[in-house]
Amino acid sequence: MSKQKMIKAPRGTYDILPDQSYKWAWISDKFKQVAASFNYLELVTPIFESAQLFERSVGDQTDIIEKEMYKFKDRKGRLLALRPEGTAPVVRSYIENNLRAGNSISKLFYNGPMFRYDRPQKGRYRQFYQYGIEYIGTADPFADAEVILFSDYLMSGLGLEKYRLEINSIGCSLCSEQYNKALVTYFQRYTDQLCSDCQKRIKNNPKRLLDCKVPNCKSLADNAPSMLDYLDEKCQEHFEQLKSHLDSLDVDYIVNPKIVRGLDYYNRTAFEIIDIATEAQTALLGGGRYDNLIEFLGGKDTPAIGMAGGIERLIAAMEKENLPFGEQPKPDIYVINNDISTKKEAMLVTAKLRKNGLKVEFEIEKNSFNKQFKAALKSGANFTAIIGEDEKNTDTVTIKNLRKEEQSRYKNDEIVAIMNEKCKKHR
Ligand code: AMP
Repeated sequence: MSKQKMIKAPRGTYDILPDQSYKWAWISDKFKQVAASFNYLELVTPIFESAQLFERSVGDQTDIIEKEMYKFKDRKGRLLALRPEGTAPVVRSYIENNLRAGNSISKLFYNGPMFRYDRPQKGRYRQFYQYGIEYIGTADPFADAEVILFSDYLMSGLGLEKYRLEINSIGCSLCSEQYNKALVTYFQRYTDQLCSDCQKRIKNNPKRLLDCKVPNCKSLADNAPSMLDYLDEKCQEHFEQLKSHLDSLDVDYIVNPKIVRGLDYYNRTAFEIIDIATEAQTALLGGGRYDNLIEFLGGKDTPAIGMAGGIERLIAAMEKENLPFGEQPKPDIYVINNDISTKKEAMLVTAKLRKNGLKVEFEIEKNSFNKQFKAALKSGANFTAIIGEDEKNTDTVTIKNLRKEEQSRYKNDEIVAIMNEKCKKHR
């Protein structure tokens, strides 16, 4: 075979390397702990879905659908999409599997890769990992407060301090209609100063003008009418109650009337947690209420609220604040065969220890004791189990504590109980 050009990972994707993967695991575990304490259950949905699911729910005028969705036909010509977000699949599954039956409330969480044909840059990838929760079955502002509290616990539980919670209400469809009209009237005066995307947004999705990142559009948006002045009585009452619950829970927040969220299905509460340590002030997570989506996708009228955040951005924020990610996994015991003739005995001791739940490395390639010992030190193990000719002949194993420079010899058939005890103390 002739040598071929190296194949690289697709643009905007990356490998989670072995010396980094524990960070992902740490955050996923923390997320699952918070989910358990709020009594959420995991729902795992496919990575690809019918493209229509997203087109109908996220909205075909949004950036995600218009520009960013990985859409393809399978061999039978079905139009599929790699999921760009997690809420629509959860709602699809909730309806399809009739999860509502017998449960007035469903509290669900997910955690996995999402795909968007975004412009790759720091904190923005084409495959990224999102965790999220959905609180389905209630329109009560207590649920909004709980979802926000969950988000805040997750951030503070990871040790983060440099973040800010921003909340808004984007009202219901009635308030939105009035507000959209006010926005169109305002922005139409400046059409020629808007970027080409915003010129289209005026017609299709005027609220999206408020979160355009182009400096000129941004400064025009600063003086645009505020959504909060267009909330009807019920939406205003909902927002007031949410704020009062957050105050009672001692959750710090600011009201930012410019949070509109990029997806069509939101109504009333919208919120984001912003990383204030970065100049770009990127969103660590975002969420909102979507009271009409379930009915819109063919289910019964069921209000709901949820949130989702990206793991990559959390890792970057934690690294910036020098926060720990737990320990990188390492073996408890490193087994050394002091002599080439004892390699098989070393393998058997290794197998026995592993079968009893200990984390054990067995050096296969290096034959000299010194090389094996150096490898044991490098592995971070607390103990080495040494098996040489002498140990083989007396059916014993020498255990060396690498932290204390102590060593003792034990009977081979006692080794599991002894090492279980010793390793427990070191955990
Ligand atoms: P969204 O569904 O757009 O509201 O995104 C929710 C969260 O997912 C954001 O706050 C980010 O933390 C994360 N996120 C969204 N898009 C990307 C991306 N392209 N790369 C990495 N993280 C992302």
